[in-house]
Amino acid sequence: MLWKVAIYTRISEQEKDSEHNSIVRQVELLSSLASQKGLSINKEYTDNGVSGGSFDRPAFNEMIDDIQAGRINCVMVKDLSRFGREHIDANYFIEKFFPRFGVRIITAIEGFDSFGDNARMSGIEVPLINLFNDAYLQEVSKATRASLKAKMREGQFVGTLEPYAYVRSEGDKHRLVIDPTVADNVRLIYKWYLEGVAISGIAQRLNMMKIKNPTAWRAKLHQKTAKSSLWQRQQIVVILSNEVYVGDMVQGKTTSPNRKVGIRINVPYKQWISVQSTHEPIISRKDFEIVQNMLKIHTKSQNTQISADHVSVFAGLLFCDECGKAMKRHIKASVPPPQNMRYFCSTYLKLGSTQCTSHYILEKEIDCAVKYQINTMLDDLQKAVSSTKNCDGRRKLLESMGFRASQLAQEVEKIRLLKNELYLDLKRNVISEDEFLNLKNMFDEKIIVAEREQGDIEKERLRIRDGKNIDPVIRDILKYVGFQKLSRAMLVDLVEKSIVCRDRTVKVYYKNMDAIKKYL
Ligand SMILES: [Zn+2]
Repeated sequence: MLWKVAIYTRISEQEKDSEHNSIVRQVELLSSLASQKGLSINKEYTDNGVSGGSFDRPAFNEMIDDIQAGRINCVMVKDLSRFGREHIDANYFIEKFFPRFGVRIITAIEGFDSFGDNARMSGIEVPLINLFNDAYLQEVSKATRASLKAKMREGQFVGTLEPYAYVRSEGDKHRLVIDPTVADNVRLIYKWYLEGVAISGIAQRLNMMKIKNPTAWRAKLHQKTAKSSLWQRQQIVVILSNEVYVGDMVQGKTTSPNRKVGIRINVPYKQWISVQSTHEPIISRKDFEIVQNMLKIHTKSQNTQISADHVSVFAGLLFCDECGKAMKRHIKASVPPPQNMRYFCSTYLKLGSTQCTSHYILEKEIDCAVKYQINTMLDDLQKAVSSTKNCDGRRKLLESMGFRASQLAQEVEKIRLLKNELYLDLKRNVISEDEFLNLKNMFDEKIIVAEREQGDIEKERLRIRDGKNIDPVIRDILKYVGFQKLSRAMLVDLVEKSIVCRDRTVKVYYKNMDAIKKYL
């Protein structure tokens, strides 16, 4: 029999750092074994760093092709686990494939040679060894999982799928960098949503603009092809709710109880591993926060979609004063716009006048009332913030700072006088030159310290006088001063809810009421 000998070497991802199993070692070992057996090697196949768990191994596949073509009929490996660590994979090749093509198998570690040793080939030992390999792989998987968690805690990206608009850094595959070719699409999605465009409307717009969806983007990244490049609702929701876009890394949201069973289960929110500011953000934290609040508001049942594109600015924010249920938007076809857009109590619409009254309000009326109330609130807040009189805390703070500043000025003056006298003492030979210099240095140092504090106080006073020390929550609210039109983003940001009363008055309840109350 002429043996056309192949040696197959492989190192797995886990073995990469170990000298013990390096490719060179495996080749050395197998070459010497081949010469012991009087065999000469025809071809070497090497798979580098592909996990034995997956079966996508280019060199191995090439060898299989060569075996099928009759170019190889003897395979030498260091140990049986080279064929794949999954019990079933290795068994298939050892028990079915190789025998079918009459391939002789030689393993160095197990001392196994199928030539003239067929009893062992189909016997008990091979499955046993493979069973061992299975257990081994599970151990590796446990260790890998522990190191994955450690990486997550360090804020390293360990996911398999890059989040849309982020790619792995070339220098560090665990760090995300912005993909500038599509980052603007994320900005557009947030901008539109903040402007009140419905999620399905956003998908439509992106599709009309021929912008490809994340699946197609990712496929291109990995030189693959995607089935569809059209955007779907869910893909927009994923982007709108992913913290990755403010620069935070949240991982470990799912886990697989067993790597052989390919299912993933959700991990409770509290156990997610979240690290802040691990990479460059695309969206500001404030916008992200508003979007999260908007996503929480359920608008579906209220007929709030005002066009294929937009939802009403009040969607999910209007409630009936009498029963507390949501007000539902209703278009009266017999009336021309804008008089046709009305809100009714949803209880009344559903259950009739026995449960709640039939009061309704025009959308225009709500718009006017809410706009007026927000404007008034903003004006009052602005006035309160800019007037020192109304702001006791601020006045007291400025007073105490002024007091400290004059104390410091007096102190500096006193030290200067002492310094003068010191010089006189030197001239009168009351103190030595050494004593003079020591004391002079001490006084100079005291002056420097005092003047530095004076400077700090002055800066702080200016900051307070210019209103820069106000509560950041209030500063955030004040950015809406002078707004022209009610926007959905602004309403969701400012307003907790609006209550519509039977007499068509509207009460607006604000978020952050505690902070606002301090000023009003
Ligand atoms: Zn009601």
